[in-house]
Amino acid sequence: MSSIFAKIIAREIPADIVYEDELVLAFRDIAPQAPVHILIIPKREIPTANEVRPADETALGRLVLVAAKIAASEGIAEDGYRLIINCNEHGGQEVFHLHMHLLGGRSLGPMLAK
Ligand code: AMP
Repeated sequence: MSSIFAKIIAREIPADIVYEDELVLAFRDIAPQAPVHILIIPKREIPTANEVRPADETALGRLVLVAAKIAASEGIAEDGYRLIINCNEHGGQEVFHLHMHLLGGRSLGPMLAK
């Protein structure tokens, strides 16, 4: 079953896309939690971090490279930012297509809410 992010990759639903290459896509989160909140996803549909395979190493490394590139273009690289991948219920994952959150533009406070 495809998630909503597969539909964004297929351009079946709109998104504010900020970066795309053959392995990954990045777009602005629809409910931003910080002035900059961008999701970076592999195009291959990996439901959670638990399903990552060795063959995904390149795409998942690309997520971090792209995050750093976008952070620079959004002007938040120097001040800093946070990268998050949530997994399953305890991680608070809502969309089951692995994604990395890039959050910044303000001080983000402690790493975890209580
Ligand atoms: P997570 O809790 O890690 O699964 O995060 C899912 C994220 O996807 C949330 O921050 C949502 O606001 C975001 N989201 C859900 N639907 C869309 C959409 N159609 N376009 C952009 N972001 C979305």
